[in-house]
Amino acid sequence: MASPARVDLDGKPIKAMTICMIGAGGFIGSHLCEKLMAETPHKVLALDVYNDKIRHLLEPSDGHPWSDRIQFHRLNIKNDSRLEGLIKMSDLTINLAAICTPADYNTRPLDTIYSNFIDALPVVKYCSENNKRLIHFSTCEVYGKTIGSFLPKDSPLRQDPAYYLLKEDDSPCIFGSIEKQRWSYACAKQLIERLIYAEGAENGLEFTIVRPFNWIGPRMDFIPGIDGPSEGVPRVLACFSNNLLRREPLKLVDGGESQRTFVYIKDAIDAVMLMIENPARANGHIFNVGNPNNEVTVRQLGEMMTEVYAKVSGEPKLETPTIDVSSKEFYGVGYDDSDKRIPDMTIINRQLGWNPKTSLWDLLESTLTYQHRTYAEAIKKAISQPAST
Ligand code: NAD
Ligand code: UDP
Repeated sequence: MASPARVDLDGKPIKAMTICMIGAGGFIGSHLCEKLMAETPHKVLALDVYNDKIRHLLEPSDGHPWSDRIQFHRLNIKNDSRLEGLIKMSDLTINLAAICTPADYNTRPLDTIYSNFIDALPVVKYCSENNKRLIHFSTCEVYGKTIGSFLPKDSPLRQDPAYYLLKEDDSPCIFGSIEKQRWSYACAKQLIERLIYAEGAENGLEFTIVRPFNWIGPRMDFIPGIDGPSEGVPRVLACFSNNLLRREPLKLVDGGESQRTFVYIKDAIDAVMLMIENPARANGHIFNVGNPNNEVTVRQLGEMMTEVYAKVSGEPKLETPTIDVSSKEFYGVGYDDSDKRIPDMTIINRQLGWNPKTSLWDLLESTLTYQHRTYAEAIKKAISQPAST
């Protein structure tokens, strides 16, 4: 019996499409490719300079039922003439390519600005000129700091959502001074958002902009010295995982007082799938994608990860599980931070009916189980080997 036709949120059949996914080999791209292969008939042209995180989808020897629906193109969008042709061959382009680790923003600000603005320009241009739909990945960091962060510490207004809730169509973008190079990323992302919005307004580009709020899960970033440079500084999930795996205290930057909301990658991917398959509801919109119920300070995140890791690894907690470090020591000069990030969910709820499901404890449990299984042995080996001279 033929499987029932897949329908969109308005009950219309979903046609199979070809998707040009730029940055498909990264953390989000790998999960999106997995979902598209396992649950849809869509084809993916996967563009990236690396493919380690999607190799399991590409191996022809495994005889996956999707082997003719995913094609890897190793290319750097900075300088590859194949880009326009691949966008032209597709119905939809999804651009995930970026430098997006905070340790780079103040230490490699030029690369950060080029990657997040200049390198994205041809993608927007080719989509606009060829009347192709674009889903572009921006960031919650475009909001910068909350209005409330400028109020006195004891002001009761800080508890009022009007002073902290981040709304796509209402909140301002508040960055620090130019010497705070942390904001090079946010500023580049903001300008590319404005350019895409203007292409929509003036030239009719069909676009959707995604603002991820700390999506986390398996395959995020790298573990320094194992599958990334020993001196590299990934995002907080991988930093804390690395500390836990090596039985070192977790480093809390400036006391770990900043607040974040974390969403499980699998929940977030469901939101992106709804955008892909419901263009009439997603086009022309900017969407916050996060989990407002999973808010913690970075200190609380560290404490919870310590508890969860002890449970999944069976190893006792350290006597001193965390230590404080200054941001200057950890990231160098020019670092600054977003104080608090709670996404308003009105627009994504109204347009796509999406809600996140997974609690912080549950998402950490599955993610740290993965980290332990994937890295614990390699770390033990690396620690037992004398450092090469
Ligand atoms: P990631 O670093 O894992 O993935 C980015 C991928 O883009 C990498 O595989 C990289 O090799 C590729 N890439 C970079 N420059 C390229 C180039 N010039 N040519 C070809 N490929 C290139 O990051 P991610 O977490 O998957 O993030 C994807 C997007 O989402 C980024 O635009 C990022 O700014 C945005 N974002 C993610 C989060 C999050 O929570 N993960 C938060 C905010 C924003
Ligand atoms: N952070 C920390 N220790 C670490 C890594 C990060 O205290 O080892 C803090 C960082 O200063 C920030 C938060 O954790 O306040 C989240 O950092 P991440 O790199 O994940 O990215 P961000 O959410 O700032 O974009």
